[in-house]
Amino acid sequence: MSSFRLLVGLCSFAATVATIAGPAAAQTASPGSLVHWQSAGIERCLIGGREFAPTILDGEPGCLVPVGLTRTADIVAERDRDGQRERLRIGLGEYPYSVQRLEIKDQSRVDLSPENLARVQRENALIGKLWARQGEPRFSLPLGPPLKEMPAGGRFGAKRIINGEPRSPHTGADYAVPQGTPVLAVGDAVVALTGEFFFSGNAVFLDHGNGLISMYFHLHEVFVEQGNEVSRGRLIGTVGSTGRSTGPHLHFGIRWQGARVDPALLLGPAGTIQTVP
Ligand SMILES: [Zn+2]
Repeated sequence: MSSFRLLVGLCSFAATVATIAGPAAAQTASPGSLVHWQSAGIERCLIGGREFAPTILDGEPGCLVPVGLTRTADIVAERDRDGQRERLRIGLGEYPYSVQRLEIKDQSRVDLSPENLARVQRENALIGKLWARQGEPRFSLPLGPPLKEMPAGGRFGAKRIINGEPRSPHTGADYAVPQGTPVLAVGDAVVALTGEFFFSGNAVFLDHGNGLISMYFHLHEVFVEQGNEVSRGRLIGTVGSTGRSTGPHLHFGIRWQGARVDPALLLGPAGTIQTVP
């Protein structure tokens, strides 16, 4: 049995959870979803001591509260409004995603050698630094599409069985389109990281400020470099099948305040994100 599975597949679910005092849960939200806690007069939003600015959704300001895909406990969000600290408890809802069975022919990308495991750990350490980035918001919601024409797809959150063994859930949305299809920035951003990674292949990570990172994996070509400023709709690369991939597709992912959430929610029309006053 690979130790990689232990590191990535189990730890995220086995995390110790502290009990947080707060009001009774007003509602529930599924892992990987978002709740927009709306009000005028919000000065700042907080989750676990992490501060961020309110976002505008359908013209309404609010705190966009992430419910991480691997979350195992209720969420307590806070906001400062008109000089008062307010709290919202969101109960953790059911895990709503399907099970996906995959066959990866290259078993060396499933059961990692010590060298590849060390490589993945180095890459994860590099990538993990991105989640703490903050800075001025450069984006507006909904985000622009990462492909000019978005096919049906996604499978965000799917519990994965790879070559017959349970693995980590799918943390992005997959869109199967031909190799060479242009990939576009979903909002104004600075290029936080690019590179060739073991699982993600040729990848671009964009920092949109205020704790929003968008990710584009398995690319064929990459047209941007770390530190570049890009605007919404800018061509950043093309679709490919690099890294651990079963065929040409765009894997599109989002981290919001460090949490993995369903990217389709941020691309979608009004009403795809739950709101609460
Ligand atoms: Zn994917």
